[in-house]
Amino acid sequence: MVEKLLKSLTITSIVSGIIAYFCTHFDIVFLKTFLIATLLQFIIWYLIGYYADWKAKIKLQQIEADMYKEISKQFADVNCAYCGTVNTAPIKITGDNKVECRKCGKESAVYVELEIAQVTSPIEDTGEKLDEIYNKLKNNEL
Ligand SMILES: [Zn+2]
Repeated sequence: MVEKLLKSLTITSIVSGIIAYFCTHFDIVFLKTFLIATLLQFIIWYLIGYYADWKAKIKLQQIEADMYKEISKQFADVNCAYCGTVNTAPIKITGDNKVECRKCGKESAVYVELEIAQVTSPIEDTGEKLDEIYNKLKNNEL
């Protein structure tokens, strides 16, 4: 880390030195140009780093969006509308679904129908009751 920092500082200084030396030919004071060139390089590197971070962030968001898209897909076995061959089709809850038949090559549309029902739950735990009945049967009480 420190080595990397020293290395980039050295490179920055060399570049600034070359620019400043070049400018001395036009009677511009060395130190003045050296400092300005160094500052400009810091700004440029900062902007490049910022841009790279921003690009990486956008790319990551894209990957996440693609991932969610893939996750939201489910698969179902459907019969071809032409020949009846069973094909496994990816089903998206939102959007159109189409499947190309692996046998005849024709495209069929897949419509998803939603159904709603009440949630059923067991009235009570029957495990205990069954044991009770079993015991009664065993003892010929029933
Ligand atoms: Zn088919």
